[in-house]
Amino acid sequence: MKIGKLVRGNAPQPNEDTTETGDIEALREREDHFRTLIECSLDAITVLNNDGTIRYESSALQQMLGYSSQNRTGHSILDHVHPSDTPKANIFITQLTQKIGSSQHIEMQMQHRDGSWRCIEAKGTNSIDNPVIAGIVIYMSDITDRKNSRLKIKQAEDNYKTLFENSAVAITVVDENENLLSWNKYAESLLGMNKDDLYLKPISALYPEEEWRKMRSMNLRQKGMQHHLETKMIKKNGEILDVDISLSMFKGSDGKIIGTIGIIADISDRKQAQQRLQMVEGNYMTIFENSAVAITLADENERIISWNKYTEILLGADKKELYNMPVRSLYPDEEWEKIRALNIRQKGMQHHLETRLIKKNNDIIDVDISISILKGTEGQITGSIAIITNVTERKKAYEQLRHAEENYRTIFENTAVSITITDANENIVSWNRQTELMLGMDKDDLHTKHISSLYPVAEWEMIRAQNIRKKGMQNHLETKMIKSNGAIIDVDLSVSILRGTDGEISGSIGIVNDITEHKRTREQLKTTTDNYKTLFENTAVAITVANENEKIISWNKYTEVLLGMSRSDLYMRPVSSLYPEVQWLKIRAENIKQKGMQNHLETQMQKKDGETIDVDLSISVLKDSDGEVTGSIAVISNISDLKKAEEEKQRMEQQVQLAGRLSAVGELAAGVAHELNNPLTAVRGFAQLLASRKDLDESLTNDLETIYKEAQRATRITSNLLSFARSHNPEKRMISMNDVIAQSVELQEYRMRVSNIEISTELDKDLPYTMADFYQMQQVFVNLITNAEQAMSDTNGRGKLYIKTEQSGDLIRITVIDDGPGIHEDHIQNIFDPFFTTKDADKGTGLGLSICYSLIREHGGTLSASNNTGEGATFVIELPIITNLVETTIN
Ligand code: ADP
Repeated sequence: MKIGKLVRGNAPQPNEDTTETGDIEALREREDHFRTLIECSLDAITVLNNDGTIRYESSALQQMLGYSSQNRTGHSILDHVHPSDTPKANIFITQLTQKIGSSQHIEMQMQHRDGSWRCIEAKGTNSIDNPVIAGIVIYMSDITDRKNSRLKIKQAEDNYKTLFENSAVAITVVDENENLLSWNKYAESLLGMNKDDLYLKPISALYPEEEWRKMRSMNLRQKGMQHHLETKMIKKNGEILDVDISLSMFKGSDGKIIGTIGIIADISDRKQAQQRLQMVEGNYMTIFENSAVAITLADENERIISWNKYTEILLGADKKELYNMPVRSLYPDEEWEKIRALNIRQKGMQHHLETRLIKKNNDIIDVDISISILKGTEGQITGSIAIITNVTERKKAYEQLRHAEENYRTIFENTAVSITITDANENIVSWNRQTELMLGMDKDDLHTKHISSLYPVAEWEMIRAQNIRKKGMQNHLETKMIKSNGAIIDVDLSVSILRGTDGEISGSIGIVNDITEHKRTREQLKTTTDNYKTLFENTAVAITVANENEKIISWNKYTEVLLGMSRSDLYMRPVSSLYPEVQWLKIRAENIKQKGMQNHLETQMQKKDGETIDVDLSISVLKDSDGEVTGSIAVISNISDLKKAEEEKQRMEQQVQLAGRLSAVGELAAGVAHELNNPLTAVRGFAQLLASRKDLDESLTNDLETIYKEAQRATRITSNLLSFARSHNPEKRMISMNDVIAQSVELQEYRMRVSNIEISTELDKDLPYTMADFYQMQQVFVNLITNAEQAMSDTNGRGKLYIKTEQSGDLIRITVIDDGPGIHEDHIQNIFDPFFTTKDADKGTGLGLSICYSLIREHGGTLSASNNTGEGATFVIELPIITNLVETTIN
C-alpha cells in the first residue's frame, strides 16, 4: 500500500548503489522502514485528500477506533466524531484544507466501534504542496486516559484544596527555617489562633518544650517523614491538646530541606475514648471474670471452648472437665429438646430462657440463659455465647413468695379479724369472710358500699377527725360498728392508707377486731382490779412488795400507818431493816425463798420510832418463768393488840384463879375462925369461972387472966379474919385510921414473926376520925404490909417495918417504911399498873398496888411510892379528913 505518490523527506536516503535494481531495492527498503515506523507508531496517522476524505489510515487507528483502514478509505474523518464536536471538527478540516501549509490542532470525542467514546487529539498539516504527500496529514492520538487522569488530577487537586481547607485535620506548612508559612482553616480553629498568631511563627512555639525536644531527638529531618507521631500542642489559651502528626519534608535538589508539611489531627477525644475503651475493656474482662453469671463460649460444633470463673463455680466443674465439653451434656434431655425446638441458631439469639442445668455432681439447678449465635463474614455459624444466671435461689424465693402469698390469702380469708379494702372513694371493694360473719352481711350489703355506712354517724365523725388519710395509718382505734341487724358492736380498728405510684391515695385497708366481749371482760377485770386496789389500799394489813434484791418497791397505805414510815422511808428500804435483828435471823432460818412461801409466821417488826410490834407475817416469793426469784410479797398483820389482849386474858384467868383461891382460903379461914369461936368462948368462960374461985392462989389467978386475955385475943383475930374474909358492901363510916392499922398489923402478926419482921408503929393518938370504908382501908394496909414483908424476907430473910400516922393540915398522912431492897428505878413508874409484878406467878398477881391506888383515889386521897435514901421503900397515903357524910356518900 502506498502512502503518498512518492516517499521522500526524512526517509532514509538511497545508498550509493546506482543500479536500477539497487535503487528499487533501496526504495523498497526505505518504504518498509517508514511503513513499519508508521504502522508501529502508537499514534494513528491519517492522510486526507483535499476534499477531506480519508486516503490513508495507519493501523494504529484500527486499535484506536476499532476500524480497519479498508473500511474507512473514502470516508470522511468526521464520520465518527461526537455530534457535539462535529462543528469544531468541521472548522478543523475546513481550515486545514483551505490553507496550504497550515497546521491545526483539535481535541474531540470519537466513537469506537464498540460504541464507547474516546478522546482523540488530532494534529493536522496541509501538505498538499508536498509532491510526495499531496494531502493533508493528520496525527491522531487517543488521549482518553491522559485526559481522564488529568481530570482526576484536577479533581484530586480540587479535592486536596477542599480537603486542605475544610479538612478536619490541621495542615501546616513551614519553611526551611521552620517558620509557619501556610496553614488551613482547621489549624486556626484547632489552635484557637488567627493569621497574626501563626504567620512566620516558629513551629516549635506550638509544642510544649518537652514534646519539641522529643521530636527533635527523633531525627525527623534526616528521615524525611514521620507517620502518626503522637505528641501534644499548646492552644492559644494554653490548653494542651493531644495530637497525631504526620510530617513530610521537602528537599531541594541539593538535598537540603526547604520545607515541611505537617498534618495534625486532634486526638484528645480519641485518646479519652481510648482510655475509656481500655477501661471498659478492662471492665468487661473484670466483669467476665468476676461476674456472678456464668459466661460460656462454644465453637461451631457446640463444644465449650472458653468460660469464666463463675461457670466453674456454677457447674462445680474444673477446666479439664469443661474444655471441649459438648454443650448439650449440660442439659437434662428434655430441656435440651426444648432448647433445640426454639431454633436459636436460626433466630441468632435467645433472651432469658428458663431452663435447668446438670451440675458436675448431678444436681439440677434452675437457670436463666441468654444465647447469642456468632456468625462469620459469610453468615456461617462460628459459635455461640451463653450467659447463664443461677435462678435456683430466685425460684426458691419466688416459690416462697407464692407460698407466702397463698398464706396471706389463707390468712385473709380465715383470719378471725375482719379485713376490708376500699377504693380511692372509700367504697368497699374487697373483704374477707370474717367481715361477713362479724357484721352479719353478705356481698350485697358490702360490695361498693361506702365504708362509712358500717359505722354509727358519731363514730364515723370521730374516725374522720383522726385525719387518717393524712397520717397514712391509724392503729387500734376503739370505735363501734353497726351489724346488718342494727346491733352495735365494739371494735378495734386499724387502718392503712394505700397509695399509688403517683403518691395519690388509691384506697385503704381496714383491720377490724370485734372487741365487744373483750371490752366486757375488760370492764369486769377493771372492776375486779379496782376492787383489789381498794382492798390493797384500804386493808388493815400491810402489804409490801420487794424486788429481787430484797428492797421494798411497793406497799399499801396501811404499811405506812403500821410502821409509822413515810414514802421516802419505805422506798428501796432493805426488807431486813424492818425487823429486829433476832427476828430477821429467825425469818432467814425459815428458808422461805426455797419454800416459795411462808404462812403466818409470828414475828416482830420495828416501827420507825423504834417501837417493836408483834406481827403475823405471810410471804409469797415471786419467780419468773426460769424459776429465778424476782421478788416477794409480804402480808403483815399487826397482832400486838391481839397479843396484849391474849396476855390480858391469860392474866385475868390467873387472877380469877387466884381470886377463887383467895376466896376459898378466905372461906376456909372464915370457917376455921367460926369453928374456933365456940371453943374460944368456952375457954374464956371457963377461965373467967375459974378466976372467980376464991381458993386459988395468986399465981394461978394471974395465969388464968393470961388464958382469958389470950383467948380474947384469939377471938378478936378470928373475928378479924371473919370480917376480912367476908365480902363486904362498901360502906363509909367515921373510922379511926389508927384502928384500921392496928387491926391490919394484928392480922399479920404471926406471918411477920415467922418472917423475922419487926413491926413498929407510931400512931398519932389525936388523929381525927374520917369518913372511910373500914374494910377497904384494911385491904390497903394488908397489901402494903404483905408487899413489904415479901420484899424484905425474900431479899434479907428478915426486916423492919415502921408504920406512922399523923395529921398534916387537912390530911391524915400514913407512912409505911420498910428496909427491904427498894423498888427498881425502872419499875417505880409501873408498880401501880394493874398486873405489873416482878414476882413469880404463884406469889404475885400485880393487882395489889393497883387496887390500893384506886381505893385511896376513891377516898379522895393519894398513894405514892419512893425509895429510901438508905435501903427500902416508903409508901405514903394521904387522906382528906372528911366529916360530912352527905358529901362523900358513895355507892
Ligand atoms: P404483887 O405484889 O402481886 O407483885 P403489887 O401491885 O402489890 O403486885 O406490887 C407490884 C410490885 O411492886 C411488886 O411486884 C414489887 O416489885 C413492887 N413492890 C411493892 N411493894 C414493894 C416494896 N415494899 N419493896 C419493893 N418492891 C415493892
